[in-house]
Amino acid sequence: MTYQPGRRILVLGGSTEAFALARRLDERQDVAVITSLAGRTATPAPVAGDVRIGGFGGPEGLARYLREAEITAVVDATHPFTRTMPWNAARACAMARRPRLRLRRPGWVPEAGDRWSVVASLAGAARLLAKSPYRRVFLTTGRTELAPFASVTDTWFLIRSIEAPDPAVLPGAEVLLARGPFDVENEMATLRAHGIEAVVTKNSGGSAAAAKLVAANRLGLPVVLVARPPVPPGPLVRRVEEALSWCLSPAASAQVPPAGATG
Ligand code: NAP
Repeated sequence: MTYQPGRRILVLGGSTEAFALARRLDERQDVAVITSLAGRTATPAPVAGDVRIGGFGGPEGLARYLREAEITAVVDATHPFTRTMPWNAARACAMARRPRLRLRRPGWVPEAGDRWSVVASLAGAARLLAKSPYRRVFLTTGRTELAPFASVTDTWFLIRSIEAPDPAVLPGAEVLLARGPFDVENEMATLRAHGIEAVVTKNSGGSAAAAKLVAANRLGLPVVLVARPPVPPGPLVRRVEEALSWCLSPAASAQVPPAGATG
């Protein structure tokens, strides 16, 4: 069987940039794009091109999928805080001999007037809060990552998330259900209305969620910022346009061996 080379790009999704890259690739006649989502969100944003939902079954499962679906290249555009999938993707691409690119948007950097404390983990953020004088805290770390804060018992939390968190994890917390982008004026109003004394967030970067940092700066509030996890070695770009160029370059057009072949 002779395989007709073509570009079939797998975008590992979940980030704003993944959706944007899929849109750009889907506009082209010479590229097929498949976006893979973990399936954490019941109502994900609309995706251009094909979509598949759910895990692959570790690096081996992903390597098998890359061969069977005749994927020519992978863009790992998972969220900057995704811990496992970037490493799975690196191993799977090495096993299946597919080129891989990491697309991770730049992190936020402090500006004049910012009162940031950078911590390595959510547990570190919880420890810092427990020792701090701040008892009314705005938490935007994601609904599945609240457990470390259960130990901070004398603090009232305002949680913002896209979908409702398990109410048993932080009983007594107030939940704001919202999906970004957010603007500075509204963020300041939210912080003021709830008498917030400190903000806890992950250094996700990007514009959609940055307004709370600007709002905290303007109100003189401290921010506890969780640093990003490390990325596997390999090519990394910061912007969708760079990822698009890579997808259209020779680097991303390696010929796919016939389905079933190993290597
Ligand atoms: P994770 O801990 O790295 O992944 C756990 C498992 O979920 C992986 O081993 C994989 O299962 C599956 N998975 C993860 N991303 C996938 C994808 N794009 N497509 C198919 N399967 C995927 O990831 P996580 O932190 O739970 O994040 C899950 C998803 O939510 C990611 O797609 C990420 O982009 C998005 N997200 C994460 C955050 C965050 O802060 N962590 C924030 C916003 C969005 P198998 O091993 O079975 O393949």
